[in-house]
Amino acid sequence: MQTAIAPELLVSPDIAEANAILRSCVHCGFCNATCPTYQLLGNELDGPRGRIYLIKEMLEGNQSSEKTKLHLDRSWN
Ligand code: SF4
Repeated sequence: MQTAIAPELLVSPDIAEANAILRSCVHCGFCNATCPTYQLLGNELDGPRGRIYLIKEMLEGNQSSEKTKLHLDRSWN
């Protein structure tokens, strides 16, 4: 996955690590097949691939919302 995180944020080791993880995602979707939340709810944003996308959007400075929080916080139990 391509990312466009501001260089001044990438000086943070945590954000640099997150950026490397985001960039390693190839959108294959294999993770959704074994994700309990995705299997129960059927929403892309409740699976790992969708959550990775939401995190990328936040780190790139795009606005997050209660909907973003809901999808990132949902669990299967
Ligand atoms: S996070 Fe999911 S979509 Fe991304 S590479 Fe891994 S299995 Fe594929």
